[in-house]
Amino acid sequence: GEPPYALNPPEILAAHLKATGGKVVTRFPPEPNGYLHIGHAKAMHMNFGFARRNGGQTILRYDDTNPEAEEEEFFDAIDREVRWLGHSYCAKTYSSEHFAKLHELAVQLIKIGGAYVCHMTQEQVKASRLVLQDAHKPGGSELREQDVPAAAKSPWRDRSVEENLRWFARMRAARVAEGEACLRFKGDLASPNPNQWDLTAYRVKFARHPAVGAGWCIYPTYDFTHCLIDSLENVTHSLCTLEFETRQAPNGPYYWLLDKLGMYKPQTWEYGRLNITHTVLSKRRLNMLVTRKHVDGWDDPRLLTLAGLRRRGFSAETINKFCELVGVTRADGVLTNYEQLEVVARAELDVCARRLMAVLRPLRVVLTNLDGTRTVSVRNHPKDESMGSREVLLGRTIFIDHSDFRLEDDPSYYGLAPGKEVGLKHIGLFARCDDVVRGPDGAVLELRASLDFNSAERAKKAQPKGVLQWVPAEGSVPLAEVRLYDRLFTVPNVAAHDDWLGCINPASLERVHGALGEKAIVECTPGTRVQFERVGFFVCDQDSGARGLVFNRILGLKESKDK
Ligand code: ATP
Ligand code: MG
Ligand code: MG
Repeated sequence: GEPPYALNPPEILAAHLKATGGKVVTRFPPEPNGYLHIGHAKAMHMNFGFARRNGGQTILRYDDTNPEAEEEEFFDAIDREVRWLGHSYCAKTYSSEHFAKLHELAVQLIKIGGAYVCHMTQEQVKASRLVLQDAHKPGGSELREQDVPAAAKSPWRDRSVEENLRWFARMRAARVAEGEACLRFKGDLASPNPNQWDLTAYRVKFARHPAVGAGWCIYPTYDFTHCLIDSLENVTHSLCTLEFETRQAPNGPYYWLLDKLGMYKPQTWEYGRLNITHTVLSKRRLNMLVTRKHVDGWDDPRLLTLAGLRRRGFSAETINKFCELVGVTRADGVLTNYEQLEVVARAELDVCARRLMAVLRPLRVVLTNLDGTRTVSVRNHPKDESMGSREVLLGRTIFIDHSDFRLEDDPSYYGLAPGKEVGLKHIGLFARCDDVVRGPDGAVLELRASLDFNSAERAKKAQPKGVLQWVPAEGSVPLAEVRLYDRLFTVPNVAAHDDWLGCINPASLERVHGALGEKAIVECTPGTRVQFERVGFFVCDQDSGARGLVFNRILGLKESKDK
């Protein structure tokens, strides 16, 4: 928890401490090029969590240096999602608000010989880096200066400061075409760290910026921006995912640049990215799924975007708890089971979700020996009396679920079959199937059953599995749609497949129409989470409206063993 004061000389440290008052400062720096996902929840858990534990504060920083990829919609969504997870930031900043300062620092860097304008094509740069890679033995140390191959050096590497300043000014003044010139660090080609091999600092892009508009046509790269803004914002601890490790290493460009410019140095630290089975978390991939309409938008409940998870019925508490559980790992490429998230969610839902009865595929049952109606008092939660109870009117006609009836019984089957008895939930009696009404095509249309009014004692000991949920015909509520979700991809490690789009599960969404709920279901509004007894946990979807209620299955009642 101690800030990294040792990295900084006393006078720089003094200025930093004056700015922060010695408080821990972290930042969460998403690029507004998509919606946040559960991986970002982990990043927030790390950054906000670390600051909180150390009495510090966290900046929400839009890392908006890539105007083509960024959109207004994403800026708003990010802010919403951060707050939804319960994090409060001390300030909201934009990398773009520092563009003038960054430009000034770039000019300063040129003046001290730390950057040059280069005209190589991307292919030429790539080729020169390969030459350098060959010259460096894998895992080797510094090259001797004279062993750096000439072909690894940009022909413009040694041009004069004046010439660099002139060219950079031209870039800034829109007098250079995209790709015709870029500003590169004049790093250290002899370094064993490839991130020191003259990375790009600024490139020309004739793109309107979503936050600052049309003022700029040169944009700084991540490598130029990130360390400088961490420093300008007086971040004490800059926590990143492992792919940035070599950039933030003591011999990497993060510290190199701050050192060159004589700026305050934050402490950097890396952790493993969160990866989850049967899904993708990269925004590039999520974007493809959305724009190619493999899913219905960024908040599709099959996606592990925070918007998707919320719509799927996962709470902020569950997501945070899950992040806590997967914990801090320095290991890279770990694949976390989606079921781990379900375990956390199920524990929470089991406690807080009110119970209701619903049948997804109704099968009519006439209770032939019931006269009139009875009122059954039903608890809203079996273990929590404070959640109250409701009255369900039992009449002669009820519906059970089609899957709870079979023409052929078998010993492992708990449902109803001709001549067989089952319990009915909350009635406390057994019902026997006496007769099956079938259509001309043999389809089962209706059952006739009788209640055993003397079975109360026996029914108390009935196997819970064999006690069916039901919905009274009278007052039952037709549901507009019930959506049953399955995993979005058929393979656990999606990223390992080149043809990852080919691994999409064609049956990831089943829309059930014709489901019925008991009367009390009308109390559900979008966001209400309930348990449909014996079926699963569901959340009322925002698509509910005049057409009726729509429910999304959050998850099943039990951990499935086949998954
Ligand atoms: P993506 O590929 O999803 O765009 P990114 O790293 O480019 O990922 P950013 O929006 O730049 O996404 O991320 C903001 C912060 O969240 C960064 O610090 C990044 O390291 C972190 N982050 C992103 N994805 C994950 C993940 N899967 N697990 C943990 N942290 C993540
Ligand atoms: Mg990024
Ligand atoms: Mg990205």
